Amino acid sequence: MENNDNPQEADAHSPSRMEALMKNCKLQKNKEEVKQRLVQSGTDFILVFWKVLSALEENIQSNADVSVATLMAYMAEVLHCIFFLGHIHEMPINPKTFFQNDRLFQIFKRQFPEPFEHYSTHLPKRTPFSILLDMVSKVKGHTDHRTILSQVEEVKKKLTEKSKDNQFVNNYSLTASVICMSYFCTPEKGFNYGASLSCSGKVETKIMIALSCIKTWNDAVAHAVCHAKKGGFIKFPDGVTCQAYIYDLKSGYNIEKAPCKKCHGMFRNVNFLPPPSEWPKGQDWQYGNCAETESLSHLLNTEQNVRNAIKAFKTHEVIINREEIVQEAKKNVTQLLNSRKFRIQLDDFKFFAVQN
Ligand SMILES: [Zn+2]
Repeated sequence: MENNDNPQEADAHSPSRMEALMKNCKLQKNKEEVKQRLVQSGTDFILVFWKVLSALEENIQSNADVSVATLMAYMAEVLHCIFFLGHIHEMPINPKTFFQNDRLFQIFKRQFPEPFEHYSTHLPKRTPFSILLDMVSKVKGHTDHRTILSQVEEVKKKLTEKSKDNQFVNNYSLTASVICMSYFCTPEKGFNYGASLSCSGKVETKIMIALSCIKTWNDAVAHAVCHAKKGGFIKFPDGVTCQAYIYDLKSGYNIEKAPCKKCHGMFRNVNFLPPPSEWPKGQDWQYGNCAETESLSHLLNTEQNVRNAIKAFKTHEVIINREEIVQEAKKNVTQLLNSRKFRIQLDDFKFFAVQN
């Protein structure tokens, strides 16, 4: 039998082999750093969310739409989504890792058993920051957008404290960098809020976009996102206004932001404030990633008149085929999830929901 030990050993010391080893080592270190950032941001997000929820609890007596059970369901949804993102991460993260100590872990597990049971079998419908935005606007109401903006600023300040000088770290902190609000005709009718997708990596973002197309977004928005690459878009009737704000890490405030080229192309005849002037290079995020998507989806769900008047296009005007969109998205997401050790069959999509 041929002995391969010696040649291999010699090869290990050759310059190209050493280079490959060092490259591999660096790659591994980067992966570990990304994992640590997700662990840290998940840990922080759970605690900050719990604090916001506890503060909101005092406001809910006067709001008939929200009960303590509703707030607890939001918390369970956040936990499930963070555990899910940990589970599908390239280097899987156990739910326990997201708690600073065993006592805290046990408390949350006792109070919210469902996320601990379903994170590896059920799918999330939205990212943690979208859940937060929904909870805050539900309690505070939809007309006072200044209150929502300042509440969001406060949360972002808490979540980004440790990463003030490092935008890269911020990218992994589950904090949506942009939020958007849209309305039909007049803001007095209420704003529809949306957050940019905040998860932890390209594959995760693709998964969340596909899941949103399947389950979360309005038919027309799902059509625009799904067909955008091949020139598809939707055209709104007159009267839709859309304002986006980006969180400025240095000042700690939200500042107005024009839409990106992709949103401008997908969502036609929308009055974007501020209007797009020119598009800087490097807008390489995926269709559906922006806060405009979620905000306009909410607007369509709320405003029947807009929903009825919307027109959908591929290369020419078409009738929206949700079934086709869902099947395509399911195919994509099944592949992506299976590559991340989340076993799922095409005909067996279970989404996480808390039984009240
Ligand atoms: Zn955009």
